[in-house]
Amino acid sequence: MQSIIHQLTRNKRVLLTTHTHPDGDAIGSLLALGLSLERMGKTIAMVDDDPIPAIYRFLPKVDRITRRVPSGVDFDIAVVLDCGSLQRVGAVARAVALMPVVVNIDHHVTNEAFGDFRLVDADACATAEIIYRLIREMSVPIDKIVATAIYTGIFTDTGSFRFSNTNLEAFTICQEMVALGVDPYQVAKHVYGTYSLGRIKLLNMALDSIELTANGKMTIMTLSLEMFRETRTQPEDGDGLINYARRIEDVRVAALIQELNGNSPGQYHVSLRSDGSVDVARIAQARGGGGHASAAGFSVTAPLADVKADLLRLAEQL
Ligand code: 5GP
Ligand code: MN
Repeated sequence: MQSIIHQLTRNKRVLLTTHTHPDGDAIGSLLALGLSLERMGKTIAMVDDDPIPAIYRFLPKVDRITRRVPSGVDFDIAVVLDCGSLQRVGAVARAVALMPVVVNIDHHVTNEAFGDFRLVDADACATAEIIYRLIREMSVPIDKIVATAIYTGIFTDTGSFRFSNTNLEAFTICQEMVALGVDPYQVAKHVYGTYSLGRIKLLNMALDSIELTANGKMTIMTLSLEMFRETRTQPEDGDGLINYARRIEDVRVAALIQELNGNSPGQYHVSLRSDGSVDVARIAQARGGGGHASAAGFSVTAPLADVKADLLRLAEQL
């Protein structure tokens, strides 16, 4: 942490980025660190390759996050947040690769240790927890805007303090953020309280698609591009739907196969969740992805039948 603080102190222009299909932790960490560095007098850019999902657009200053790296600024240092591997930042990776100094701040157990300076803690409930510690160590005051970003990162990555990564820090930091003015009801209302009608219809289709393996230990949920078209929803509307399939009794692993709108057909993202008895990070890593022990994912280009066959083999191994 001290070497990273040294790097952030001596460099003036900071490019901050995070993964594609950003979630609450990615966006919260990006805003919290970016705005804190700006308060320290740095020139900053906060970039994400993908649009900000509707449920996170309530976050103050979220419109400061851009899709492209601003041209005409010679950045001195890049900070990559909440990414187990550099490829996770998508097209921004090209700009990061050209940067003189790259800092990697993350909490994934599968982190590939990219970058010149690393702050990786798999025991942190969220990347936002690590960002909180960093901001405190740099003695930058936390205002309500930054507090809301940190709170949202921890609140969403712990599944509202329900997932196995929920630790003491999740509660102590969030308590402090509430004392600094965060309104828990307002955050929860935006993140979970409102669903578009299309999303409800997508949920209906997702529930209908659930298959249970013969041994009852694994579920497979499938979301096709056709379903998104029919319900007029976005890929972000698939976020969290896997949690319905993981809650079915006796299920140890839940998989969600989501068809991607890529350049060629047959591209899928597979999300894996476990009840804690199976390390899905290892399973995802073996397929070129990564994540946490009970929540991981990978992308694959193959016929849907092959993707399912691979998952069924997994179920048999269970
Ligand atoms: P999700 O299934 O919600 O996309 O992701 C679950 C967890 O696995 C997240 O923490 C995410 O960062 C990680 N993850 C998902 N897909 C990939 C991937 O393709 N590569 C890596 N390294 N991690 C992934
Ligand atoms: Mn995270």
